[in-house]
Amino acid sequence: MRRLLVINAIIFAVLASAAALAYYGYSYTAEASSRERAIIQDTMRELAEEKIIGIETPILEVDEKLFASIDPDRLPDLAALVHDLQAPVVSVFVLGPDFRVLPSGYVSDPVTRGPAFLAFFESEVVPALELRMLAEGTRAHQHLTLDGSPYLFAYSRRSHNGRAYYVVVEADVVHLVANVFPQFFGVRSPRLYQVVDESGELVFGVPFRERGAAVIELPFAETLSQWRLRVAQRDAGTQAARGRRTVIDIVLIGLALAVITSGLAILLYAVRRERKANALKSDFISNVSHELKTPLSIISMFGEMLAAGRVKTPAQATEYAEVIWRESVRLARLIDNVLDFAKIERGVDIYEFAPGVVGEIVARAVELSTHRLAAAGMTCTVEVDEDLAPARVDNNALTLAVLNLIDNAIKYAADGKRIEVAAHGQGPHIVITVRDFGPGIDPDEHERIFERFYRARAVRLKPIRGSGIGLALVERIAAAHHGGVKVDSVPGQGATFTLWLPAEAARDMTAA
Ligand code: ADP
Repeated sequence: MRRLLVINAIIFAVLASAAALAYYGYSYTAEASSRERAIIQDTMRELAEEKIIGIETPILEVDEKLFASIDPDRLPDLAALVHDLQAPVVSVFVLGPDFRVLPSGYVSDPVTRGPAFLAFFESEVVPALELRMLAEGTRAHQHLTLDGSPYLFAYSRRSHNGRAYYVVVEADVVHLVANVFPQFFGVRSPRLYQVVDESGELVFGVPFRERGAAVIELPFAETLSQWRLRVAQRDAGTQAARGRRTVIDIVLIGLALAVITSGLAILLYAVRRERKANALKSDFISNVSHELKTPLSIISMFGEMLAAGRVKTPAQATEYAEVIWRESVRLARLIDNVLDFAKIERGVDIYEFAPGVVGEIVARAVELSTHRLAAAGMTCTVEVDEDLAPARVDNNALTLAVLNLIDNAIKYAADGKRIEVAAHGQGPHIVITVRDFGPGIDPDEHERIFERFYRARAVRLKPIRGSGIGLALVERIAAAHHGGVKVDSVPGQGATFTLWLPAEAARDMTAA
């Protein structure tokens, strides 16, 4: 009981440590991978910020330059000034305090804008710019979509000789997307970039194909306020490898746990089995002692009567002597069983094979059982094929096996009154059957009765003596002859034990 308690405690401790290790391993893996993810995201965010600054700074510089250099008194020079700047600007407007474009206050790219754009600007763009709210000397940007096209206006309120005026600069968005973005978001970069508009439609870049990739999204802070820059890790390989590594880690942890648990289960099973075997062994010892004692006391009782001359007739003396003989034969068989069994258990090869005639062995076993059969009030028929092939057998062992089967039939099936023993050829085998008409054996015990020390439930409570090694021995003898043994039985209708072994010719053939 104490041993069991200790074993249970050890198993519990091992399981608990394994679970703790698995938990630690898993949380470490999860933490490491989330830390790695966070680092990657931080790097991507920093990079996106740098790119945005890189794109916006030149735009702001051009704007500032224009704001500072335009003189409302010298507007006829405006075109030359803008031209000299060589900046990506498509139109420049100088507005008076009434928010109307001053004469000569409009310069534009003649191809994309031209004079027609001025009216559009005054009617559509000016109302959208928050010129009225602007403090002097400050600047603002307006990113607009008009008639489906994007526009970026920078504007500033200035004053000259006490009069307010406004400068509006339209950046070349087409140039930005076509020339500037590709410079910043190179295709060879380890990251993928996209610029998307408010509704998420792509303005620049290609759709991200990597599934589950971390994506960083940042707005353009000052200028292109309707657009956002999106960055993703290009290298799906690294991401997939990281994912794979996490999966491998988890699988390894799971495997280790499974191995530990199954190891413990096997250990537990082995301990249980050993306990069971020990219990069976002690049953066996008490059964065997009991079995030895009974014939011994019969022998000593009848021997004593003969010695003391307490017999009335010579016939009675013969009867007593027969009892002594019968019991001593039984005793010898039991001892044979136990000794053979013990040798086999120790792995000693005890058989000596020689050519033999199975029919004779069967007949001898029946003959040796004559007295016991008669005492049990049973008859036994023997049927042996005349042309039965010879076999290589250990004569004594095979006789003992058949004797055990007949003995069992006498012990457990005496009510059936009859035993049928037969030996037939069946293909390459010689088949010996011992059939009785007793109570039979429950189907769930058909295999177990061949286990050592096992006794069927039905007999355990009955006063039928046994050690539980008879059938185990039969099975081992059959196996040693390269054959086997089985039982067919329907409870209530008797049992047929079948022992088979290869005939000599078949053995030669398989050997060849
Ligand atoms: P033992 O007879 O010493 O108990 P065996 O190994 O010879 O041990 O048999 C194992 C068990 O198989 C027996 O205890 C009995 O329950 C069952 N058994 C064997 N032969 C028969 C039979 N002919 N009819 C019914 N039960 C049998």
